[in-house]
Amino acid sequence: MDPLTLRLGSEPLPYFRTHEFSEVMLEVDTTIKRLVGTEVSSRAAVLAASGTGAMEAAVISTFTPSDKVLVVEGGAFGRRFGDICHAHGIPHEALQLQFGEALTADHLQRYTHTGLTGMLVNSHETSVGQLYNLRMLRDFCKANEVCLVVDAIGSFLADDYRMDELGVDVTIISSQKGLGLPPGLAVVIANRQTYEQRISRGRPRSVYLDLRAYFTDMERGQTPFTPAEGIVLQLHEKLRRLESETVESRINRSANLASDFRGRVRSLAVTVPSYPLSNALTPLLCDSAYDVFTRLKDEYGLWVTPSGGELKDVLIRVGHLGELTIEDNERLANALGEVV
Ligand SMILES: *Cc1c(COP(=O)(O)O)cnc(C)c1O
Repeated sequence: MDPLTLRLGSEPLPYFRTHEFSEVMLEVDTTIKRLVGTEVSSRAAVLAASGTGAMEAAVISTFTPSDKVLVVEGGAFGRRFGDICHAHGIPHEALQLQFGEALTADHLQRYTHTGLTGMLVNSHETSVGQLYNLRMLRDFCKANEVCLVVDAIGSFLADDYRMDELGVDVTIISSQKGLGLPPGLAVVIANRQTYEQRISRGRPRSVYLDLRAYFTDMERGQTPFTPAEGIVLQLHEKLRRLESETVESRINRSANLASDFRGRVRSLAVTVPSYPLSNALTPLLCDSAYDVFTRLKDEYGLWVTPSGGELKDVLIRVGHLGELTIEDNERLANALGEVV
């Protein structure tokens, strides 16, 4: 996290049902749309929720039990989309990838002309670090008239992401990844067509996660429920800075950290998987992966990300987001060299 964000987090919070706070929200609305690369006619909803809250809100506000949705399940976050569809009775099929398997056009080919109306995908399946080819997904969705909902939480500000150019109908992002803010705020952005033809006509069985109220309240810079106000203020400040620094330079920063780190670990007893990677993190296959995580934490004061489930002892992940530096990479690569 950067010093300006941290400083803002220490300030007391003003009351928010005011003209002044609405101005802040409206600026967040227009800036975030610009930064994800979508037209002003798109709609943004700011939720007090972790990323999963926004995933669930997006799914139940966009799709109904009359839809048929393809879920790309290449890891834990893809499975989460499947779980959400299951919980809400939204018919779905899972395109399951084995660990290590890259998503290709051949996988999609099987689903042409099968009556699909939607697709749910995480642009970067953060649990394993695979970056999907969104242009390939766009072409499939266009050809099959499928509504494309993308969880871009794991790649926003780390990988190139331009919503309209990529034919994405609904984008989901959250505060605690590339934006480098505390967790607890998430944003759903829907293009005009999806808002008008799907979301505004929907009747999701939820009060808190019904996006319609968020979208209409945003017209006057407000939210239906108490916003994560402190994080909104941190987001507002961060977005302003991103506008002047540019999104491209943020992405380059992660890209440079990623390529530097991958170069440093080439000579170590670790393997980087061969599927396409995001700049947000480097997945590393190594023996006793969970012990490596624990030893780096306890013996070196360095925190990497362990995996859950069957990858627990196989895979760790090293982040390249936020204020990390080349010196951090050097320290970690040296420690890794000793531990593995
Ligand atoms: C981090 C992340 C989420 C958010 O999960 P929460 O724990 O609910 O914030 C969702 N999708 C992806 C791809 C992520 O990387």
